[in-house]
Amino acid sequence: MLKVDNLHVTVENREILKGVNLDISPKKFHVVMGPNGSGKSTLALTIAGHPKYQVTKGEILLEGENITALSPDERTRRGILLAFQNPHEVEGVRIIDFLRQVLTELKGMDPAEAYDLIREKAMELWFKEEDVHRYINVGFSGGERKRLELLQALLIKPRVLILDEPDSGVDVDSLSIISRKIDELHSNGTAILLITHYGRILQHLDPNSLEVHVMKEGRIVLERGGDFVREIEEKGFQAIFEECGCNE
Ligand code: ADP
Ligand code: MG
Repeated sequence: MLKVDNLHVTVENREILKGVNLDISPKKFHVVMGPNGSGKSTLALTIAGHPKYQVTKGEILLEGENITALSPDERTRRGILLAFQNPHEVEGVRIIDFLRQVLTELKGMDPAEAYDLIREKAMELWFKEEDVHRYINVGFSGGERKRLELLQALLIKPRVLILDEPDSGVDVDSLSIISRKIDELHSNGTAILLITHYGRILQHLDPNSLEVHVMKEGRIVLERGGDFVREIEEKGFQAIFEECGCNE
């Protein structure tokens, strides 16, 4: 579905990604792990088309189509959605207005129908009815912000959903609803690329469906099955890198 081929990315004249290769299919549940600063968010933002991240070499393919030069908006229209690590506040823009516009423009949905769907899905993610009339993320807790990112995903049902640490700054209850909803999207055919530090969000998933990609200094250095998550948690990245000779 999504293929990243020898991707080199520069931010402010510094090379951050140094040849990333990745093959994302909807059949597997793809997890990216790696130490802080290894380039996970850079990879996510580059796939989403953030203008600050310059591709100097390599390409990104969506079902065989080279999308490397497309704008973020065009990528969203083709079905790529990024749930941000740090979702920003948007003062003055109400959630309901924003999401209704997304659904009418992207999905051609009738505005009244969109309104009902947004309310229904918001409540599935434990928002109160009045919450959808608030400004985007203004005064929202960490968990609420992450749930709002997921609300967009549930409404859009993207072909590829990239989640950048949807579990960071989230309490246990929010974590369980978030992981269930991600699993629901995956079961319905969305290809998932989940960036995380913790195995916790994966505990409800079938380990056999997981594929773990480990990043180190701008490259993917290891690709293993689901059991590897626990090994990483037990040993830590440094020990794992020693073992695999990835430090050479
Ligand atoms: P991770 O998500 O794995 O923690 P990041 O992709 O956020 O890592 O960052 C990788 C490296 O790129 C870090 O050294 C970070 O400081 C640098 N970097 C990322 N984004 C920017 C930016 N916008 N400006 C300058 N440096 C950046
Ligand atoms: Mg990050």
